[in-house]
Amino acid sequence: MQYRLSWGASIGIPVYTKRVMAEENEVRYNPAAIEPKWQQRWAADPKLYAAEQVDCGKPKYYVLEMLPYPSGQLHMGHVRNYSIGDALARHMWMRGYNVLHPMGWDAFGLPAENAALKNNTPPRQWTLSNIAAMKRQMERLGLGYDWATEVTTCLPEYYRWNQWFFLRMFEKGLVYRKKSKVNWCPECATVLANEQVVDGCCWRHETTQVDQRDLVQWFFRITAYAQELLDDLDKLDGWPEKVRTMQRNWIGRSEGTDVDFFLEEVQGLGTEPTRIRVFTTRVDTIFGATSVQLAPQHALVAEFTAANPELKAQVDELLEQQKRARESGDLGAIEKHGVPTGRFAINPYNGERVPIWVANYILADYGTGAIMSVPAHDERDFEFATKYRLPITQVIKPTDPAAPQELPFCSEEGVLVNSGAYDGLSCTEAEKKLQEIAVAGNFGEPKVTFRLKDWGVSRQRFWGTPIPIIHCEQCGLVQVPDEQLPVVLPDQIEITQQGGSPLSRVPEFVNVKCPACGRPARRETDTMDTFVDSSWYFYRYTDAKNANAPFDSEIVKYWFPIDQYIGGVEHAILHLIYSRFWTKVMRDLGLIVNDEPARRLFTQGMVIKDGAKMSKSKGNVVSPDEMVGRYGADATRMYALFAAPPDRDLDWQEDGVAGVSRFLARVWRLATKYAPLACTARVDSHPFRIEGQNAGSSTSLRFAQKDGAPSTQPTGLSLKLLRKLHQTIAKITLDFEDRWHFNTCVAAIMELVNEIQAADAQLAAGEVSAPVLRELLRLLVLLLAPFAPYLAAELWEELGEEGAVLRASWPISDPELAKEDELEIPVQINGKLVTVVRVAADADAKAIEAAALAGEKVLLRTAGKNVVKVIVVPGKLVNLVVK
Ligand SMILES: [Zn+2]
Ligand SMILES: [Zn+2]
Repeated sequence: MQYRLSWGASIGIPVYTKRVMAEENEVRYNPAAIEPKWQQRWAADPKLYAAEQVDCGKPKYYVLEMLPYPSGQLHMGHVRNYSIGDALARHMWMRGYNVLHPMGWDAFGLPAENAALKNNTPPRQWTLSNIAAMKRQMERLGLGYDWATEVTTCLPEYYRWNQWFFLRMFEKGLVYRKKSKVNWCPECATVLANEQVVDGCCWRHETTQVDQRDLVQWFFRITAYAQELLDDLDKLDGWPEKVRTMQRNWIGRSEGTDVDFFLEEVQGLGTEPTRIRVFTTRVDTIFGATSVQLAPQHALVAEFTAANPELKAQVDELLEQQKRARESGDLGAIEKHGVPTGRFAINPYNGERVPIWVANYILADYGTGAIMSVPAHDERDFEFATKYRLPITQVIKPTDPAAPQELPFCSEEGVLVNSGAYDGLSCTEAEKKLQEIAVAGNFGEPKVTFRLKDWGVSRQRFWGTPIPIIHCEQCGLVQVPDEQLPVVLPDQIEITQQGGSPLSRVPEFVNVKCPACGRPARRETDTMDTFVDSSWYFYRYTDAKNANAPFDSEIVKYWFPIDQYIGGVEHAILHLIYSRFWTKVMRDLGLIVNDEPARRLFTQGMVIKDGAKMSKSKGNVVSPDEMVGRYGADATRMYALFAAPPDRDLDWQEDGVAGVSRFLARVWRLATKYAPLACTARVDSHPFRIEGQNAGSSTSLRFAQKDGAPSTQPTGLSLKLLRKLHQTIAKITLDFEDRWHFNTCVAAIMELVNEIQAADAQLAAGEVSAPVLRELLRLLVLLLAPFAPYLAAELWEELGEEGAVLRASWPISDPELAKEDELEIPVQINGKLVTVVRVAADADAKAIEAAALAGEKVLLRTAGKNVVKVIVVPGKLVNLVVK
């Protein structure tokens, strides 16, 4: 017995029961023959998946999956992400849209340098060969990408536009250079952005603690857009709420007041007192301030400690504690320590003298690096004051007399007490009034602060976009003139991962003439963070070959915003904030008109195995090639959609892939059984017809006589099958439009196939005719096309249909035909399910109640008892209360 589901001597054959093997044996579903055949045909027809011109007259649809890093191997997470996007793209093609479905490579980054160090392969060569390997995998999977728009970010034709944007932003003051404390990953030997530090460790090296170093760095002024980035989140109602919440928290806006306390001078009267600016969100509580606290790095602290070695030692200890907490990522939970400086500050509102402390939990980079401590109305201040026995003065009384009286009282539902002339004001009234007083007295003002920091983009790496700036002793920072772009990375370079940027050791690269004065000058040797590349790549897809501009604005105007963006939730704050920022910058440069890059965002769940994330170290990695080799691309892709709702984690079970493969074999067997029969029968008795071709037109399925005789309504089993078909069409269409329950879509297709198979078994009894079944199978192939594109293409041709299945119209459900004429209603007794009764779909509560009470099992259980209450939820449920 030749077993045909699997193939190739080197590949293990899955174990099946004899029954299944016997069944499959007749089927001869052989994806190893079908899939490469269609792969070749598709490759020979580049127009198949190509986007059409912007004037094609069709509505547009831009579906995009996040581009991968070319590591050399697709993993199952990729397969899942791309299977979702590809199903959607195919569905939209069949709906008649002009679809843009591109793919590219996020091709700069550290691993290429690691590989160069390890294998002595130049980063470019390593990267490009990985891209070729992954592209082969994608093509084998049958993913319908428009390869004419492919973008590879490590090629000069792409990164020259990173440089061009950098210069435009430099001209607008959105790029600047400053010395700052930076996050330094010893493993990467480079600077990391704040967003790339996770729990104190490097985002790429989860166990490597990040150091703080002082370096002169390039920054993008993303904070200039902080408010707009926050406000526009409200417009993104097609984005997951969790992503919007993560971005809101990351941007971290707080409204408050900057207030100057005055340093009490020790010797004599200074002409102008030193100001200690604090930021507070609760200026209404300022009469309850019982100390001022400074970050250990605050400039005044250095002054205080200069003549006080004992204090200096204590402050150094606080600094050390803060550093350790920062490194372990536990800054929020730091055990609070402080030391009094022996100096005092004056409260500008009442002249009161309060001690100045230095505390380890005050951060130099948040607000002003100084706070007023109000223990009666702040949890943290209360904890600190209790520990160090500082006075606690209540200045807010709860409005609600029933509110708990103990301190701290942190709500703003209160009125001021112990606050002089402001007693009796509500917290909000007081805030406004006290801000006015501060402005009038020139000791403060209303202030909005953000947690978001400017984006540090300097990297001391080779494999990235060179920063197009020249350092001239005479002229300072000089832009590389546009006509000299791109600044190209040198080909030959020694990568050591030591001693700063590799580019600084290439004299031909570094030594240039200043474009302004012609004197010898030095080229910048930092390269850009690779998140720059992914911040705008999806614009380039629309016009990927443009040699004169990053893209044509008119083409972008047609395609943007992206209709559906699909990727991992791990990009919620890095890539997805940077690319929103980039969009706003490009808009303000006059290049585009959209404010946001993507209308809808979907974040798929992870693919796990045995309950854990797939990783080499755990030995639980399932290779897509292996699955495709054993079961075919269709089964692998369909399983990735079927095994879990797309937003949840998917636990990979090879048995499940085998099951999907068996299902596809069943479809194959049925379709190939009816296909030849129809070739002769079609002219005489083609029973259904799809009317209407394009998206939005109505299609109805009815018996239509070929010779134009009047239509007749189907009856009996045919009607039942037709109803199931229309319900399946309706469900899948709705899921593509909105719900994305692709797992239940596949399940619905399986149910439909079960019904067709059952009908097939009754063919001899004359309940249904062969042409009817053939037509159902033809429509089934349309429904399968987004999920199992190879099999759909093959069966479409087997059925004698003209042209690509991708160009066939998606069927449209007729609600009348989809309607059930009977419903099954569960009946409960005292909350427990007892039976199910069938009622007419439009039955009222009374009729449903009667049907429930007449149920055989209900009669048995209620015999000799009292039915005290009947609750009917029409269409859903009946519950009887029985005593
Ligand atoms: Zn690292
Ligand atoms: Zn110069």
